[in-house]
Amino acid sequence: MSEILITPNPILRKKSLPVKEISNNEITLSKKMIKIMNDAPGIGLAAPQIGELKRIITINIYQNEKNIKYTLFNPEILSFSENKVIMEEGCLSIPKQFADIERPEKIQFKYLNEKGKIIEKNATGNESRVIQHEIDHLNGKLFVDYLSSLKRNILLKKVNKLKKNGEL
Ligand SMILES: [Zn+2]
Repeated sequence: MSEILITPNPILRKKSLPVKEISNNEITLSKKMIKIMNDAPGIGLAAPQIGELKRIITINIYQNEKNIKYTLFNPEILSFSENKVIMEEGCLSIPKQFADIERPEKIQFKYLNEKGKIIEKNATGNESRVIQHEIDHLNGKLFVDYLSSLKRNILLKKVNKLKKNGEL
């Protein structure tokens, strides 16, 4: 059984709270998230997806021949590029559904690393995309919210059907 919450679980619609200090509990939680993300497998995970309303996300992608793998505590986007791009997105909480979503191409963002150090960074490509998607989770937002209600309902109904058929 997966520990990942699936839509329409109401926890996925709640706003997560900032981490006050990065204690052992937070480190343990982030390690658990990395394991669940890798097992899924997924390229990103937000704490609310496993029922923890804390502003923690993990990312694990391959870009420009590099494995980009890290944990972000209290991530915050500082600026978005004007240029937008369309990329296909999926979500472990909306299993087996995909859609083209338009988002800003580049972001400037900051976060705390596991040592509590503030890191400021720029990202583009998949890294930018995953971080935007995961930060949305911290605000109770899902990628299907960018779709028309018609398209959104089709995808969500498909998830219900998979659930009913025991395929999840
Ligand atoms: Zn997601």
